[in-house]
Amino acid sequence: MSRCLADWAIDHVVLERGEVAHSWRSERWDSLTLLTPNWQSRLPGFRYQGGDPDGYRTLAEVIAFIADYAKAIGAPVQTHTTVTSVARTDSGYMVRTDRGDWRCRAVVLASGACNIADVPAFAARLPPSIAQLTAQNYRNPQQLADGGVLVVGASASGTQIAHEIQRSGRPVTLSVGEHIRAPRLYRGKDLEWWMDAAGVLGERYDEVDDIKRARRVPSLQLAGTADRSTLDLNVLTATGVELVGRLAGVTEDGKAQFAGSLRNMCALSDLKMGRLLDLIDEWARAQGLDGEVPPPERLPPTRVPEAPALGMNLAPGAIKTIVWATGYRPDYSWLEVPVFDHKGMIRHDGGVVCEAGLYLMGAVFMRRRKSTLIDGAGDDARELSAHLAAYLDGNRARRTA
Ligand SMILES: Cc1cc2nc3c(=O)[nH]c(=O)nc-3n(C[C@H](O)[C@H](O)[C@H](O)COP(=O)(O)OP(=O)(O)OC[C@H]3O[C@@H](n4cnc5c(N)ncnc54)[C@H](O)[C@@H]3O)c2cc1C
Repeated sequence: MSRCLADWAIDHVVLERGEVAHSWRSERWDSLTLLTPNWQSRLPGFRYQGGDPDGYRTLAEVIAFIADYAKAIGAPVQTHTTVTSVARTDSGYMVRTDRGDWRCRAVVLASGACNIADVPAFAARLPPSIAQLTAQNYRNPQQLADGGVLVVGASASGTQIAHEIQRSGRPVTLSVGEHIRAPRLYRGKDLEWWMDAAGVLGERYDEVDDIKRARRVPSLQLAGTADRSTLDLNVLTATGVELVGRLAGVTEDGKAQFAGSLRNMCALSDLKMGRLLDLIDEWARAQGLDGEVPPPERLPPTRVPEAPALGMNLAPGAIKTIVWATGYRPDYSWLEVPVFDHKGMIRHDGGVVCEAGLYLMGAVFMRRRKSTLIDGAGDDARELSAHLAAYLDGNRARRTA
């Protein structure tokens, strides 16, 4: 957004509470690699130049990539500046920070979609003997006590963390809720390539049937591994991970209750994967690619245990740690402008917030399916900065009049 505002010659500042790429520096596990290939993280005027376009960035490489970008575009970033409130004034907004206040005509809320790990309230009932971590503060298996680990959530974060912990020698139980299975490679190409080329990632918020539902869909169960292999529940089962259903609750005496829906969840996930691959096949056929790429191949169905456990007594000590990989939500506790719906989410139309001069970036399926990906920021910023420029022009014209 900073780069696009500069293209419009709009005077601006970027306020950041930590260092550039703070969330990548402080809220990710050590072994994380991007699940999007190197070529895919395209930012306005900046793209991957290395010799491994199909590889996946390590955490250190992501941090370097974003820091290099900020330098390359000369982004006017004020680091170690925490925004403590944003409020409306007659002429725009008052932004208060722990290092002074700013008055401005427009504000772009680019504080991230994943500020708070979404942990269910019943986590408070867990016995104190069990350590609780989230995908945000889990770093590596060495951080954990020896003994069993319950990982809750089987999307991209949960499956990667479960895999790593199981390989460390700690027995893992994985609680599986809604998720979408995805092959890493399909018909000889990365799944992200297909989704990008076939227009799945570029699908707009005003084109889908039910945008509210689309915004609740979990991320694809993908991982960026060196051998470009698929990481799914079958792989986890083969390494010894025990699958159970969605964690539905914890009783007063500390008994975990798992839903009996594991088989259905997995069947649904296989079905959704099948639909995505059908769409890709259709697109490939229409483009005349059928002769150029290998024929369609499908993964065998997800293997589900005959009688998955429906409960687990957490008190005796078999489980030492629970890792919540149950999603994230944004934190707008500092936003003092009445723009929230009944669920506390910001009301906006493709990132144009319902209050004039206020814009959003990075929200889930904000303007396109790819809006929460690094690769999605460019298109969104180009369009929203144009809207913002027109808004400032209109404002200026009104003031002159
Ligand atoms: C576990 C995980 C894995 C991911 N993997 C991928 C991937 O493989 N590929 C991909 O493209 N995307 C991935 N993403 C999504 C990725 O986070 C986004 O693509 C991208 O980081 C979003 O950038 P952003 O600037 O919108 O938000 P963020 O990166 O969250 O940046 C927001 C910034 O705002 C700052 N901030 C927040 N509140 C305040 C405040 N009050 N005052 C000042 N500063 C504040 C934060 O410190 C932070 O630096 C992943 C996300 C997660 C959580």
